[in-house]
Amino acid sequence: MEAMRQAVERARAAFKSGRCRSLEFRIQQLKALERMVHEREKEILGAIEADLHKCGHNAYSHEILGVLGELALAMAKLPSWAAPQAVKRNLLTLRDEAYICAEPLGVVLIIGAWNYPFVLVMQPLIGAIAAGNAVVVKPSEISEHTAQLIADLLPQYIDPELYPVVTGGVPETTELLTQRFDHILYTGNSVVGKIVMAAAAKHLTPVTLELGGKSPCYIDKDCDLAVACRRITWGKYMNCGQTCIAPDYILCEPSIQDKVVENIKRTLQEFYGEDVKKSPDYERIINKRHFRRVLALLEGQKIAHGGEADEASCFIAPTILTNVSPEAKVMEEEIFGPVLPIVTVKSVDEAIEFINRREKPLALYVFSNNKKLIKRVISETSSGGVTANDVIMHFFLATLPFGGVGNSGMGAYHGQHSFETFSHRRSCLIKDLKMDGANKLRYPPSSQKKVDWAKFFLLKRFNKGRVGLIVLALLGVVAAVVIKMVYY
Ligand code: NAD
Repeated sequence: MEAMRQAVERARAAFKSGRCRSLEFRIQQLKALERMVHEREKEILGAIEADLHKCGHNAYSHEILGVLGELALAMAKLPSWAAPQAVKRNLLTLRDEAYICAEPLGVVLIIGAWNYPFVLVMQPLIGAIAAGNAVVVKPSEISEHTAQLIADLLPQYIDPELYPVVTGGVPETTELLTQRFDHILYTGNSVVGKIVMAAAAKHLTPVTLELGGKSPCYIDKDCDLAVACRRITWGKYMNCGQTCIAPDYILCEPSIQDKVVENIKRTLQEFYGEDVKKSPDYERIINKRHFRRVLALLEGQKIAHGGEADEASCFIAPTILTNVSPEAKVMEEEIFGPVLPIVTVKSVDEAIEFINRREKPLALYVFSNNKKLIKRVISETSSGGVTANDVIMHFFLATLPFGGVGNSGMGAYHGQHSFETFSHRRSCLIKDLKMDGANKLRYPPSSQKKVDWAKFFLLKRFNKGRVGLIVLALLGVVAAVVIKMVYY
């Protein structure tokens, strides 16, 4: 425990030394991370395989590509992200310099989850380094091989004092959370999210909580079901259903339920062959606890496909449940496994109502040929993110902020959004000491005349582009003259 306190203290001292302030230093660290990923690719893929039974191709696409993409983006864009942003001025500040300056927060704690054990630690780490922070990294102990590898590799490539790795489980994380941080990004379930937020509140530390929940998927009957079901099958069963933004359940009208099942069954065969257990593309449940939890969700349900399981290897076959009651246990908690319930609804109105009666999800999916219907579903519901006519894909577009809302989380990251999450947007206004006459307006004694002028200066809006600017400048000159006449 003492080691943990020391690691945080060393990170703070290293941050205070100022060496991560320069953009050159940050880019150099990001380059080193990129070199690490290239040089140690085999070990990284091996650790992910050991944790999640994931083949090299899939581990590369799910975890390494995203990290390399985020690194390339951050290195290319950091100078523009970090550049001061000039802001519009009003009549009172026309002669001044006004801008927003992104400054590092200090020491950031990143707590990762096990389901994508590499990318969920590395992507926020990249953003936090780019923003100039020191970072304490805490990978999930449940994906133990990847956690150990991250702890071994990071100090070999990036500054070990600025970016220490702490390993361990609940006792270690609990202890770590007693330390003071300047920001915490936590990925995991909502129950622990509350623990993290409560611990952070003791130090008034802001948090980004990347949580989960039940992400609904509405399929309209006016839709290419073969394509829709192929995309849904891919997103639902990848990583054995253990994806935070996997479609958790399907909502559709009773008339298309059987066709949905048929299309998903056909796709499962295309993807994983006759014997899914032998497919190199099909992963396993992370451990026996989660295996039993997921299996228990099948009790009393009508299994339209799948349901086979093997505890020794934590295998659960891709499973579809039909005519599921909204009150069923499988509809109460996030499934986080390869089980896809279908709940029938009479119409899109009922689907919207169904979604809105529950906690705000992390992701929402809608399939339809009708753009109006898609836009309606988006405008009448709320969720962390939405993809229409596909699943998962909004995660991969770095210009979109990735995060939840309400019970599915707070704050967001990815690309420039990560940089902003780990930066303080400092307001800077630089004036000179001349023309103090104008300030008489705000200095006592007060008068109605002063209030009227203040109203003019602060409330006047000119939205006519170039002409407006010229008028504004002229008014500024007139105002300065008037002030001089009135107050001197
Ligand atoms: P987990 O068990 O790996 O826990 C996450 C982290 O919390 C770990 O580092 C762990 O050490 C720590 N932790 C666990 N219990 C703790 C406690 N009592 N006090 C302090 N720290 C504690 O992961 P999990 O929670 O099983 O992850 C699955 C959940 O995460 C799902 O709900 C999933 O949807 C969500 N998730 C969200 C995202 C996202 O980006 N929004 C990504 C992945 C997973």
